[in-house]
Amino acid sequence: MTQHFIVIGNPIAHSKSPEIHALFAEQAAIDIRYQRQYCPDDAASFTAVVEAFFNGGGIGANVTVPFKQIAYDCCVARGGLSEHAKVAGAVNTLLLNTALLESGTPIADALYGDNTDGQGLVNHITSLGWPLKGARVALIGAGGAARGVILPLIQAGIGALTIANRTLSKATNLVDELSTASETIDKHSIETCATSELTGQFDIIINATSIGLSGDTLPLDNDLNCHYAYDMMYGRTLPFLQHFAARDTQTSEGYGMLIGQAALSFERWTGHTVDVTQATNTLSGR
Ligand code: NDP
Repeated sequence: MTQHFIVIGNPIAHSKSPEIHALFAEQAAIDIRYQRQYCPDDAASFTAVVEAFFNGGGIGANVTVPFKQIAYDCCVARGGLSEHAKVAGAVNTLLLNTALLESGTPIADALYGDNTDGQGLVNHITSLGWPLKGARVALIGAGGAARGVILPLIQAGIGALTIANRTLSKATNLVDELSTASETIDKHSIETCATSELTGQFDIIINATSIGLSGDTLPLDNDLNCHYAYDMMYGRTLPFLQHFAARDTQTSEGYGMLIGQAALSFERWTGHTVDVTQATNTLSGR
């Protein structure tokens, strides 16, 4: 039987998720239909789209910009949230809470939210052979993307974390909030600084800012070095990666993170494990 999935966003025409999930389904030899779903940018429309989809027999939905926080709010009031979604304050994967359904809860009240973005990043980095255990990591940015990766990085056993942001107060507030949200996050073990003051040697530096969209460049200190630089953005010229590549540093862009988070959603929905390396190689070659 065909299993139905959607990705909800605004805009949504650019989304690569249908292509990615079609490849996963091919690997798993299952029959799926995965469609892009445009939604007007308001909470009532989002809720209506989600309810219609799941009432119509849908199995799972991905959620992208600008709906990740709205999806979080929907799930708080209904079927619950995973720890990663709770700490991220955002949901990128929707499914139904089967325990609630079995106890007679209506479909609309059984919506459950997960967030696979951060674990997708962790899985991509480790799949490329970069160990996170004990690594000294600098994370640049304090917005939604940074927020979603902090718990998975800490759970992966990193040795030290510095969060740098253009607006320093947003980084310190983020650390305060996250340490309140999760016992795993100890605010005293995380350093914060302004991006322009980030300096020294790290194992991994991750760019989680949206600067790539603006064409601006980050003010990177001349004495800032790392073994591996990662930009969560993908599919365009990334000055952050060019800066480190010019220093003979290994670099990656975030396309593998996108595939990694999609794989975790797919596994959650269907129970089939994805060969992410093979999928990334196939999709990158297209
Ligand atoms: P937000 O708008 O929530 O946060 C933006 C961040 O970028 C803030 O820390 C902001 O700093 C910083 N920033 C923006 N402009 C500048 C600038 N000119 N100079 C310095 N810092 C700047 O965005 P998100 O966190 O949601 O997204 C960040 C990026 O992550 C996006 O490019 C997105 O595409 C990518 N992403 C990739 C994913 C993947 O699967 N590969 C998944 C999710 C996100 P300040 O606080 O000072 O404003």
